[in-house]
Amino acid sequence: MRHAPWQTSEHTPARKFQVIQTEHQRRAYLQALGIDVWVPSDQPEPAAVAAVESESVGAMDWPELRTTVAECTRCPLHASRTQTVFGVGNESADWLIVGEAPGAEEERRGEPFVGRAGQLLTEMLRAAGQERGQVFIANILKCRPPNNRDPEVEESAACRRYLERQIELIQPKIILAVGRVAAQQLLDTDTPVSRLRGQLHHLGETPMVVTYHPAYLLRSPTQKRKAWQDICLAMDVAAGRAA
Ligand code: URA
Repeated sequence: MRHAPWQTSEHTPARKFQVIQTEHQRRAYLQALGIDVWVPSDQPEPAAVAAVESESVGAMDWPELRTTVAECTRCPLHASRTQTVFGVGNESADWLIVGEAPGAEEERRGEPFVGRAGQLLTEMLRAAGQERGQVFIANILKCRPPNNRDPEVEESAACRRYLERQIELIQPKIILAVGRVAAQQLLDTDTPVSRLRGQLHHLGETPMVVTYHPAYLLRSPTQKRKAWQDICLAMDVAAGRAA
């Protein structure tokens, strides 16, 4: 049995609140109030706009994708952000780490996982023989949700094509999804992390392992042993020892 070398504790409470944020929700709300909804006939349907946007993202190279993300206004989070957090690291990495969303420090520095949880993630990766600069680290959301609340479904949907394009460009050998939000949103499930971890998943053709979020491991250090098992599985898959 290989052992996890990392340790200790942090608590980041998540708060939830709802806003009416998509055109679809706005129309449903107005209709529920009995207010006639006027839709200008010369405007394309939102689904058609999304399809065109998705296609154009699929043709982007790294510089275009970075600029598009930096200028994105596809969800209401653009109004409260100070800057986007695109992701960092090796654009040809074997390992892609996917977390939830930037926190305050990440937004300030424009880089994912730079707080205490980030330090633990760096140690976990180092234990797996991966220096931080060797891997690519990204999040489900490129903008910080206010008060570090969970991402809303529409926010994740608006941002998803950017992460998918990052995956297409990187072509990693393994994706490591850290935490509930990343795991459940990537796999489109509400199964708890405790049941998603410890096994191999696939995102399209790309193998994916789920593990606990480092912020959770800081609060629950006894779970580090299981996280280390997940890291070992990811190492085996990346090295072609497991499929
Ligand atoms: N937690 C995340 O999931 N992502 C970050 O970038 C920072 C903390």
